[in-house]
Amino acid sequence: MAGPVDEFELIARHFDWPARHSEVSVAVGDDAALLDPKPGTRLAVSTDMLIAGRHFPLNSAPEAIAHRALAVNLSDLAAMGATPLGFTLSLGLPQTQADWLTRFAAQLRTGAERWGCDLIGGDTVGSPVLTISVTVIGSLPTGKALTRGGGKPGDRLAVTGSIGDAALGLVLALGEESPPALSPSAAAFLRERLDYPEPRVSTGRALLTHASAALDCSDGLLQDIGHLLAASDLAAEIDIDALPVSPAAAEWLESRPADWIRLVTGGDDYELIVALPPGVEIDPAWGVTVIGRLIDGPVGEIREAQGRALPERRGYTHFPSTSADKGDNANG
Ligand code: ADP
Ligand code: MG
Repeated sequence: MAGPVDEFELIARHFDWPARHSEVSVAVGDDAALLDPKPGTRLAVSTDMLIAGRHFPLNSAPEAIAHRALAVNLSDLAAMGATPLGFTLSLGLPQTQADWLTRFAAQLRTGAERWGCDLIGGDTVGSPVLTISVTVIGSLPTGKALTRGGGKPGDRLAVTGSIGDAALGLVLALGEESPPALSPSAAAFLRERLDYPEPRVSTGRALLTHASAALDCSDGLLQDIGHLLAASDLAAEIDIDALPVSPAAAEWLESRPADWIRLVTGGDDYELIVALPPGVEIDPAWGVTVIGRLIDGPVGEIREAQGRALPERRGYTHFPSTSADKGDNANG
């Protein structure tokens, strides 16, 4: 690896922090991390890899890259209802620029502290393309988890936050097509939603005992609802008018009403999609909006409540079977 600091100095300088969780017995520095989960808990493990130019623009700020690397992984833990415990960080670095690493590590540590997730190890290598792979480990009570497969007919389908902001932010970031005229604050909000996704960690934990099924929405709302339906053997009806839309996205839709399709097929939301059984009372603290319900029907079918035609292409895929399948997404 080229650069002024060697790998071991680099790790010690930027990535060796004291762990907070008592479950972490050995973290960075030995051949493997050692975790001692509390009795009565199970571990949830998930990995997401980010490649420069594919999952984030090449010129992204190191802070945005660090935030994203951890946040998209924590979103998967949230979707299982798990509590973050620790993570590993594998870096493929084109060169070791001290300033870049200092900013990257500082933001990563901010996120790690905020979400209570200890850095327990990783790997650091030279690479022609900046590549970041994070593996998160979370804990759950034994026998419990929110999976995609527990939905039942009659359950309400709900989502956290607002949907489609990041997809519109990506249009602004790519600059390949002319966006509608937006107020500066709306444009800034949409960019922020793309660059700093918010994993719904506390809502996921709270829903563990209430939702029948869940997943996180990363590759397009319709596509991700389809995954829940496939796992639950069901169809769904959704009402596009019920979709939670931010004021900034509403401003966009005023001049481009047909762009509701971008909102439901664009990626990078990192909101939760959850199924809520009929008896469950919605707590306002969850920040969810009901957008439809699960129904018996052809598995995976999504109907629109007002009879609107939903697009064939439901979201983003890395390996499309035809070029028409490939949607827009910053993260895959
Ligand atoms: P090995 O030779 O077994 O691959 P390394 O020399 O790569 O071990 O790593 C030494 C220690 O530093 C290990 O505990 C490893 O988990 C940790 N580590 C390496 N890279 C990172 C990183 N980017 N972030 C956190 N810990 C790291
Ligand atoms: Mg190594």
